[in-house]
Amino acid sequence: MPFNVRLLIVAISRPLPKPGVGSGGFLQVSPELPPQELLNSWQLCHEMVHLGVPSMPYEQHWLEEGIATYVEPLIRHEMGLISSSRFWAELAEGLPEGLAALRQQGLDGNHRWGATYWGGALYCFLADVRLRVRSHNQENLQKALRGVVAKGGNISVSWELTQFLRVADASVGGKQFHQLHSEMGPRPTQVKLGPLWKNLGVIPSSHGLRLQKANRDFVRRGIAN
Ligand SMILES: [Zn+2]
Repeated sequence: MPFNVRLLIVAISRPLPKPGVGSGGFLQVSPELPPQELLNSWQLCHEMVHLGVPSMPYEQHWLEEGIATYVEPLIRHEMGLISSSRFWAELAEGLPEGLAALRQQGLDGNHRWGATYWGGALYCFLADVRLRVRSHNQENLQKALRGVVAKGGNISVSWELTQFLRVADASVGGKQFHQLHSEMGPRPTQVKLGPLWKNLGVIPSSHGLRLQKANRDFVRRGIAN
């Protein structure tokens, strides 16, 4: 299937406040930025993930940003740019921001920063965990997202949420994406992260974070080892 998206590079003379990478709708890279720093920045990877996700209605902007937020460090970990400990530490630090923003209102139409980015990432993480628990890592979020791209879902097209949920569920079997949306979309969400971390063997310690054996550590190792 042709992927009719281009990465548009425009040279502009307006300098960024300091050499670096800025994002927000589009990516700005200052010409003075050393290539290694571009490689180290998360923004480039985050924006590239967006290319493989269809545009969603305003009410479900959380899904676009949640996928980019959850998948970006996974890609950078897979490329050897960040360690698994750092991946888990950043996730453990970020997800409570999502939970806090979902206490009063569910994901749909909740445009708080925490809900959009980390609430959306929480949705993706929980979908990934449930799929992996059920199938012993045979099914996962990556496979569902590949299914979305295979059905023509990318940034150049607009999809309704129902289309996304249908394609994602069909790609991995079951109803996990629908189910999780009915739990987190229309109503406030409370997820106990403590027991989940314990099951995965992600343990906060005085030195930051410890990864250890646990009854479902196969899920942790399947996600980022
Ligand atoms: Zn984004």
